[in-house]
Amino acid sequence: MNVSLLSVTNGPEQLIERAARTCYQSSDMAIPEKTSDFIQKLIGMGHETPLEHAYASFMITGYSRSMTHQLVRHRLMAVSQKSQRYVKENDFDYVTPPELSDDNTEEFASDMKIIQGMYKKWLDKGLKKEDARFVLPNACATEIMISANFREFRHIFNIRCTRHAQWEIRNVCMKMLKELNQVAPGVFNDLADKFLS
Ligand SMILES: Cc1cc2nc3c(=O)[nH]c(=O)nc-3n(C[C@H](O)[C@H](O)[C@H](O)COP(=O)(O)OP(=O)(O)OC[C@H]3O[C@@H](n4cnc5c(N)ncnc54)[C@H](O)[C@@H]3O)c2cc1C
Repeated sequence: MNVSLLSVTNGPEQLIERAARTCYQSSDMAIPEKTSDFIQKLIGMGHETPLEHAYASFMITGYSRSMTHQLVRHRLMAVSQKSQRYVKENDFDYVTPPELSDDNTEEFASDMKIIQGMYKKWLDKGLKKEDARFVLPNACATEIMISANFREFRHIFNIRCTRHAQWEIRNVCMKMLKELNQVAPGVFNDLADKFLS
């Protein structure tokens, strides 16, 4: 299970500050130690649109389609995901829920084998990949690239890093939060304090 930051806006905090100061026509730019306080003040006031100028993209691999089904519900995100229409899922990798005991993990693995066999059977019978995939499980591992602005990432972290969120999406979002907090602590450190400590 891997989450890697592919790209992020250059100087994101300065860009956000610049955007907000355009609104207020204030000129206190270039005092780096104040940028963070300034951004947190914007967030506190609910003036979050300046955060939309900064973007980040992540590549997420080895998580299940069950996780990505939840992630893609976030509508302000750009998404590109490995297709089960175009890519064969023979011998697919899968995610095993960590809650399973050792015995049950074996049984789960054998169920996955059965499904791999079912998938192959339908391909052999001439069904197209787009239809043979109907027998595939939510556990199928996938690859997904997402891009969003910082306001949307904050929203996603706020609802997906809590203990109410399902473990797998929580795991992904905590990793993304950790990465973004390193490049833009002024935007994310309140959430990092809340969810990562
Ligand atoms: C704990 C948990 C349990 C869940 N359980 C279920 C479930 O059982 N079934 C289910 O179907 N879903 C479930 N969801 C998914 C949830 O309903 C949302 O679809 C998902 O979290 C995306 O949230 P969002 O719409 O706020 O975010 P985004 O799509 O990321 O949008 C961000 C924000 O933009 C604004 N926005 C976006 N689009 C519009 C719009 N069209 N109109 C007005 N404002 C908009 C809203 O303020 C929104 O909060 C669950 C989510 C969580 C966190």
